[in-house]
Amino acid sequence: MENEIKDKWSEITTYLVNEGIITQPVRRVWIDPLEIYSYENHTLVIVVDEEISGDIINVIEKKYKSALQLAIEEVTGEQVNIVFKYKKEFASQGVSSYINGNHLEEKYPFLSNGHSFDNFVVSGSNNIAYAASIAVAENPDGQIYNPLFIYSGPGLGKTHLMHSIARYIIENRPDYTVTYTTSEDFMNSVVEAIRTNKEKGDANATARLRKKYRNVDVLLIDDIQFIIGKDSTQVEFFNTFESLYQSGKQLVISSDRPPSQMEQLDMRYRSRFNAGMTIDIQPPDFETSMAILRNKQEQSDIKLSEEILDYIASNIKSNIRDLEGAYNKVLLYSRFTKPNEEITLSIAENALKDFISPDEEMIITADYIIEVVADHYSLDKEAILSTKKTKDIVVPRQVCMYLCNELTNLTQSEIAAKLKRTNHTTVIHGVNKIKKDLPVDNELQSSIQIIKQKLNAN
Ligand code: ADP
Ligand code: MG
Repeated sequence: MENEIKDKWSEITTYLVNEGIITQPVRRVWIDPLEIYSYENHTLVIVVDEEISGDIINVIEKKYKSALQLAIEEVTGEQVNIVFKYKKEFASQGVSSYINGNHLEEKYPFLSNGHSFDNFVVSGSNNIAYAASIAVAENPDGQIYNPLFIYSGPGLGKTHLMHSIARYIIENRPDYTVTYTTSEDFMNSVVEAIRTNKEKGDANATARLRKKYRNVDVLLIDDIQFIIGKDSTQVEFFNTFESLYQSGKQLVISSDRPPSQMEQLDMRYRSRFNAGMTIDIQPPDFETSMAILRNKQEQSDIKLSEEILDYIASNIKSNIRDLEGAYNKVLLYSRFTKPNEEITLSIAENALKDFISPDEEMIITADYIIEVVADHYSLDKEAILSTKKTKDIVVPRQVCMYLCNELTNLTQSEIAAKLKRTNHTTVIHGVNKIKKDLPVDNELQSSIQIIKQKLNAN
């Protein structure tokens, strides 16, 4: 990811220019001299050369930090928190104390995201997940819910809750060792350890890895769905899980789906995961969206009218990340393109024209459906389009037929063509099969619900 941000840096800064957020000269003077130092757990450290001007960080933070964060998210899909540091700080203090001299954040970089229970808006769609998270944070001894398993579609607050649990324990129970990791980072460490072991004959590499993840009191692992099905990582994770679980350590897991929906998950672990507490977070209702926007307002010096907040909340319903993205976009747009004008609804509408297209339903295509279904079942698109008739492929293929039939205007022959079937009766059969199974098959029901959520078709 660090490399991705580095590689795409010029694309990111070009985005700012193209969107009219900064001008070319601003880019040359302020942005081009910045250097990426490191990227870990969503914190991007950028080094600033103090030679340019005295209080430059102050200026850059105020004027360009949120713009850069937004542009990085637009280009790489990654939500980052940027921390600016002067070159001289590296020389005088050494690298290790680069984050505001705040030792907790230095040890736990994810804390710099600022997520905590205090800034989590509680509502009907997330109150159970919130309550369970608080319960575990207050009693992190593996006794209450172990593991705590939180699942939801993207952008609904899983990571926010996991960070909050970790923060609470770190701040209140200094005797506890807490490790938070994304499954991506976990996977990278496993692959790296195996490689070091193989290439350099360093057998301690895997031992060090185990020490890091198994000598802890609380392990939080985010987005587990990326690990399931990845052989070596999965084995390492299960062994870690088992070792911690057996010694009564607290585990918190998040995923985009419940254990029962993880087709490639061993039965043994399905029941292990289910043995604790499994909770979902639902998309926000209008009131919750408004509360989240108001909460953001409190932290900002620019105020948007209730009318504009209402406009954003009623149009962005899919998830909270998009809701916040839309809000930031309005602020940025007004700050950079109309700095001296009051922000009116039409300015907001203009800023969000790519985000929201009123009266225009999003068109869901067959190709998109196939892509999302394949992704859900961890299959290649080609497998769905192939002639293979094994159950693990036939069911996803029929789900594609069913969803194409329900969500697009295609005829059955056209659906057959999209799915590379020679005969449209295959489609009729597939659609009927799903219709027949749906009322009695809970797994299928929830798969289809998750896929529809991903398609934004609810
Ligand atoms: P997920 O991990 O489920 O994809 P995140 O936890 O990253 O979602 O949430 C996406 C964004 O929405 C984050 O900026 C997060 O702080 C914010 N967010 C999510 N839920 C809430 C909430 N209930 N109150 C305030 N902010 C929230
Ligand atoms: Mg997340």
